[in-house]
Amino acid sequence: MPNCPECENPLDLDVDEVEEGDIVACDECGTEFEVVGTEPLELAHVDSDELDEDDDEFMEEEEEEE
Ligand SMILES: [Zn+2]
Repeated sequence: MPNCPECENPLDLDVDEVEEGDIVACDECGTEFEVVGTEPLELAHVDSDELDEDDDEFMEEEEEEE
């Protein structure tokens, strides 16, 4: 069983059942990988554009006090 490249958790997938282009997700860290090769099994990070915007900016409320 292949291990997750991110957290070393054993990935619950059957190497006989995956095909190139399949997306597998790690149960442990949630990272998704694309199967880019099956012999031997090769996994590549899936780029997720949706997680790109990670704004931690917070607006401070302007309060005028006299
Ligand atoms: Zn993982």
